[in-house]
Amino acid sequence: MQRLPSRLRRALAFLCFATAATSCAANGALPIVKLFTTGGTIQSKGAHRGKLSEYNEGRVTPQELIDDLPELKTVAQLEVVEIANIGSGGMNADLLLKLAKGLNAELAKPGVAGAIVTHGTGTLEETAYFLNLTVKSAKPVVVVGAMRPFTAISRDGPFNLYNAVRVAATPEAAGKGVMVLLNDTIHAARFVTKNSTYRIETFVARELGPLGFADSDRIAFYRTPLGRHTAASEFDVSKLEMLPAVDVVYGYQEASAAPIEALVAAGAKGIVLVDSSPSFAKAIALAQSKGVVVVQSDRKGSGRVLLSERSAGRGIISADNLNGQKARILLRLALTKTTEAKELQRIFNEY
Ligand code: ASP
Repeated sequence: MQRLPSRLRRALAFLCFATAATSCAANGALPIVKLFTTGGTIQSKGAHRGKLSEYNEGRVTPQELIDDLPELKTVAQLEVVEIANIGSGGMNADLLLKLAKGLNAELAKPGVAGAIVTHGTGTLEETAYFLNLTVKSAKPVVVVGAMRPFTAISRDGPFNLYNAVRVAATPEAAGKGVMVLLNDTIHAARFVTKNSTYRIETFVARELGPLGFADSDRIAFYRTPLGRHTAASEFDVSKLEMLPAVDVVYGYQEASAAPIEALVAAGAKGIVLVDSSPSFAKAIALAQSKGVVVVQSDRKGSGRVLLSERSAGRGIISADNLNGQKARILLRLALTKTTEAKELQRIFNEY
């Protein structure tokens, strides 16, 4: 008596995974996955199928992306929300807020299983981390891009998109925060970074590795990220119309302090230092005296920033192991809540 039902249950579970359906709903309908599109190489067209970095011939529409991939019809019911159709260098606070608010509205609907976001790879990690901090849902959100344009020989976009939809439709993907998928590899938005200008295996989480893989038999997860994100995040964008100005300054031998002085004069509310320089000391003190928050990141690309007692005592905030561009995202959101150093450091420790 016991054996048959459990076998049946296993068979049913396998069927759910194989079809990537959210649940074996009584009506057998495929899960609804929202496709938010912003543009990027995944939507870009080039004149020459072999020139992978030449893609200035416009972009395909979201519908063309879907029509190109009939296999999606067996995975999920896709519903499009077009946010933009731009290169990711053009992403800004307006679009980030529009995207986060749109995702929150759609994911709150009981019938929606998850969402994916198409994005240029250049600043993809920034948007993914922003969403990790502002999406108020445990449902899966997967940010996807491509290293090769829509028109290239052996393009990577269609498989990335197909796999992203499979992950977004997978119940096991819930609660893992916003994820990034390219090259069959699932990364946590908090830890992922673009590591190569050109290679399809560009996205890595340097110290901590991927969460799992989108393989053809199943979505194989091995880990889940710790730290606060999505449904457990304290950041609420619902009433925000803008984000505070935060900029990034690079440290190197004989670095000029002029960028710091110029940013303070231009009204920056926060500055993230990617490494530092003794020549910054006076400009940093002046910036802080004007209420500008200074966060210390590092240019090595991995490892935590351990501040000296002197720096911490002066109110500098450690970015933990966030790179400069991600520390900027967190500081923008943190400054919507506080400018107090101890509280800001708590936020950087928790997210
Ligand atoms: N120029 C592109 C962008 O970031 C690069 C890419 O998508 O890979 O939008």
